[in-house]
Order: sequence, then structure tokens, then C-alpha cells
Amino acid sequence: ADKLDLDAIRADFPILHQEVHGKPLVYLDNAASSQKPQQVIDALREVDERFYANVHRGGHQLSNESTSMYEESREAAQRFLGAKSKNEVIFTYGTTSAINTVAHAWGSANLAPGDEILVTEMEHHSNLVPWQQIAQLTGAKIKALPITGDGLLAMDELPGLLSERTKMVAVSAASNVLGTINPVTEIVRQAHEVGAVVSVDAAQAAPHKPIDVVAWDADFVALSAHKMVGPSGLGILYGKQALLEAMPPFLGGGSMINTVTIDSFTPALLPAKFEAGTPPITAAIAFKAAIEYLENIGLDNILAHEQMLAEYAHQLLADVPGLRILGPAPHQKAGIVSFTVDGISPNDIGMMIDTAGVAIRAGHHCAMPLHARYGIASSARASFYLYNTREEVEIFVAAVRKALTILS
Ligand code: PMP
Repeated sequence: ADKLDLDAIRADFPILHQEVHGKPLVYLDNAASSQKPQQVIDALREVDERFYANVHRGGHQLSNESTSMYEESREAAQRFLGAKSKNEVIFTYGTTSAINTVAHAWGSANLAPGDEILVTEMEHHSNLVPWQQIAQLTGAKIKALPITGDGLLAMDELPGLLSERTKMVAVSAASNVLGTINPVTEIVRQAHEVGAVVSVDAAQAAPHKPIDVVAWDADFVALSAHKMVGPSGLGILYGKQALLEAMPPFLGGGSMINTVTIDSFTPALLPAKFEAGTPPITAAIAFKAAIEYLENIGLDNILAHEQMLAEYAHQLLADVPGLRILGPAPHQKAGIVSFTVDGISPNDIGMMIDTAGVAIRAGHHCAMPLHARYGIASSARASFYLYNTREEVEIFVAAVRKALTILS
């Protein structure tokens, strides 16, 4: 049974209560970015009204206050991830900057010609391109774990792709197109057997399911606050302490140093070593409110709610002529329903249902290799979150049906 109190939750999200093109907004683009509850909006405003100053440069009262709130937020993120130490929790500008940090800092120190980086066919460009860039610089080679026709990782092919040449396995915990929830623990186990390091893109998992980096035994984990009812411009890089200590810093600048001379520097200790420059202070402090909001509702409850909505959408879309849903069954994924319709452009569907107030996304969703795997260039994607209702699923499906009668 659905454990969420939808009326209470929806009342927390002011942006949902508006009309678009004269119709009530039905916001189903949560995989791109989620909306913020009043608690997070208030936290953002409160920082800027009362506590804002640069962090770690202090000596004055306001800076001391903002610094301690910044560090409290780091502790909230540590708890959310199940990390052992707050030194393992780095504030970044998002998943993209977190993955680039790992690829460049870890990769430059650990990759050589002949080494292999294993990715998967379902990765977001931000878990592909940074690896391609570091592969070009170091002479390492990229390999990819294929997916099955129904959008699961082809796990039976994993042992054949792993060898002592595999130095890095970069995999998403959940796909932003298919929704597929991947068996991270099993991938990490097999990767560690050949001595590879595992970097997990948790951008689509963190908003939708409980995460425990220690249970995963993942070496690195990246996430974005803006997909989990938090602010944009902020993410987290989790890394095992020994790995973060052994690798060089990525960005250079203020805060990440211990000492500097004209021609040399020594890096700061963790986590400052990977937080060069002024961080997104307001966003980082307010992220704590987002984490607490999700924890109060419960990530298990959120996933169950989304899967119920996905199930309902699958059911209502089942007899739409020519419509094909990409990816696995609802119980194997987060609340994402991507689809194509024979002979009709996903963009046209997206534009048409926008006029009915329904916000979805059409395009390649930063996953061109995944779409190529299915022999398509783009898809339409409805992505659900904790505040979406069954009624909204009905409005969405009715709008798709109407659009198709006009477009076909
Ligand atoms: N990986 C996945 C799976 C994503 O869905 C996204 C966001 N679309 C990213 C990485 C990149 O996140 P960001 O744009 O917040 O850096």
C-alpha cells in the first residue's frame, strides 16, 4: 500500500500549484530536475538572510556560523550515504563535476596504455565523456557492458569483460532513460576480484532509493542535489578515504592547499583537498533540509510510490497502438517511463502534451549510445517522483492519446 500522504506532500511544493497553458501543471520531468519543498526554499532564504558568509576563511562570527552549517550539511550527506567518515564526503557542483574529479584525479594517477575502463551501454554522457577524455590522455581503452533487449545489464557478460587489465568500472546505479536499478553490489564484488576500482553514478538512484556506500563497497559515488528535492549547482562525491588520499587534487585554487610558494603547493587534507575555490555555500547548507525531507518520508516509501505510478502508466499505455516502452518491468526500475511511438517524433509528442500542461522530456536524454543500441535517435520520457499522483498519470496518458490522434 502507498505510504505517502500525497495531499500533505503536494502542499509542501508551491511550484506544483500553477497552471501551464491554462491547465494544471503535471510535472513529469523529475529525472531532469525535481522540484523543491517549502522546507528547502526556506532553508535557502534563511541562509542568505541570516547566515551567509564565505566558509573556512573565517575569523568572524558570520563565517564561523556559515562554516559550521556547511559542515553540518556534510554530516547529513555522510549519514544519507552511510559513509564512515565526513572526510569521504566532498561537495562538488553536481554529478558531472564529481565524475570529472574521479576520472581526472584518479585516472591521471592510475591509468596507463593497455589499461581498460569498463562502462555500460546505458550510461549518461557524464559517465562516458570524462572517461573518454582521460582514456585519450593516458592511452587507456574503453569497453562497455551491453544491455539486454529489456533494458537490464547483461550481467552474464560481465565476467568475460573483466580482467587484470580492467582498472576502473564506471556504472550507474540507476539509468536516467530506462529507470533500471542495477545490481551495484554484485558488480563491485566482481570488479574487486580483478582488482578494479568502481565508480558509481548515483544521480538517478540517490533520489529514489536508500543508498549505503559501505554495503555497496563502492570506491566512488556521485550524486546531484537538484534531482533529490535540493538546489542545483551542488553535488556530492563520495570516495573511500584511502583512495582520495592517494590521488592528486583535480581543481587547483583556494582552500585546497596546505602551503603555496611561487612554483609549488602542498594539498590540504580531506575533504578540503577536493573543494577548490568558493563552494556553492547557500546550496550546500540548504541541502541538509532536502536530505531531511527525503529521510522523513523514507526512501523505501518513495521508491514504492514511484513504482506504483510506473506500473499504472505501463498498464494505461499498454494498448496505445505503436507505443513501445523502453526498459524493464516497473518493479525493476525507478519511476521512469521512456517510450517511442512508431512513425511519430518524440519531440512532437512532448510539445503537444505540453499544451495540456504535462511536462515530460523528449530527446536523447544525454544517452546517445543507449538510444543507438535500440536503433532510435530519441525517446519521450515521463519521470515520476514523490509528489506525483495516479490522477496525473491518467492526465499524462490521456494527453499522449490525444496527441497521437492529432499527429498520426
Ligand atoms: N548521470 C545520470 C544518470 C543523470 O541522470 C544525470 C543528470 N541528468 C547526470 C549523470 C548528470 O548530472 P548533473 O547534470 O547534475 O551533473
